[in-house]
Amino acid sequence: RNITKYFPIEQKLFSKEKTVLKAVDDVSFTIKKGETLGLVGESGCGKSSTARTIIRLHDLTAGEIILDGVDISRMNEKQLLPHRRKMQMIFQDPYASLNARMTVKDIISEPLHVHRIGTKSERNEIVENLLHKVGLKKEHAMRYPHEFSGGQRQRIGIARALAVNPEFVICDEPISALDVSIQAQVVNMLQDLQEELGLTYLFIAHDLSMVKYISNQMGVMYLGKLVEIGSSEEVYKHPAHPYTQALLASVPAPDPRAVQAEEDVMLEGDIPSPINPPQGCRFASRCKYADERCKSEEPELKQIGLNHLAACHLL
Ligand code: SF4
Ligand code: MG
Repeated sequence: RNITKYFPIEQKLFSKEKTVLKAVDDVSFTIKKGETLGLVGESGCGKSSTARTIIRLHDLTAGEIILDGVDISRMNEKQLLPHRRKMQMIFQDPYASLNARMTVKDIISEPLHVHRIGTKSERNEIVENLLHKVGLKKEHAMRYPHEFSGGQRQRIGIARALAVNPEFVICDEPISALDVSIQAQVVNMLQDLQEELGLTYLFIAHDLSMVKYISNQMGVMYLGKLVEIGSSEEVYKHPAHPYTQALLASVPAPDPRAVQAEEDVMLEGDIPSPINPPQGCRFASRCKYADERCKSEEPELKQIGLNHLAACHLL
């Protein structure tokens, strides 16, 4: 609820003005148990910062995080520990997120040590089961990350995230760094695991069309703000915010109407800096519908349909 994360920026000498990077600004959503919320937007829009704030890798500037009815927003590390177990993260880069000097077994069982789960032989059994779950073999346990392909490394990362039996898993662009040919395999596996284990996902991606298939809800972020959110079908079929429309139009589609749409709304220009973001609508500098009001007045997220909200003065 109202998740806000500002990062202070080094202050200019003799300047009293505080400079902040508004990475996440007043973002609210709810993910139901067993469901998936897909969060999309261009890089730098605050998707990963939102994820890291939710999982309490960052402290919040404002807002609340309610996990299973418990407010975890202001807990200290010790209070958080039992809740940390319930939420895990799968990272974008399977190369960078695995310690090259650790064996697969040690990587996967590390969270078990942190949470003091199981005896040595129990932990070995858990690792073996996890390897099997993510489509790897038990012989792989004693090998090192460099001996695996990108897709296999991401499977190891997934096994590590699942080691402590989490309920909520944040997948931060888990397939963006992988070959296109294996992206679908990994997504399918994540979906199977969700079904089998009853997992709840926050799935971050920059590709709207991919998120559509795996999400119940879809949220679109721009410059730290949630600009549209709703059921995936609704947002995909009836995108309301000019930014969502532009994002969808920039996805190559076999549909000839999409070519028309591409001519209509194209994403031009750079994203303004999240350091002191523009007043009014943050999308105004790139929006072809922008008028005077957009430059001064910030649009609020409002309901525009059943289970569909968007933030634009036009709506
Ligand atoms: Fe465009 Fe104005 Fe809507 Fe912002 S509020 S998306 S600038 S029309
Ligand atoms: Mg990111």
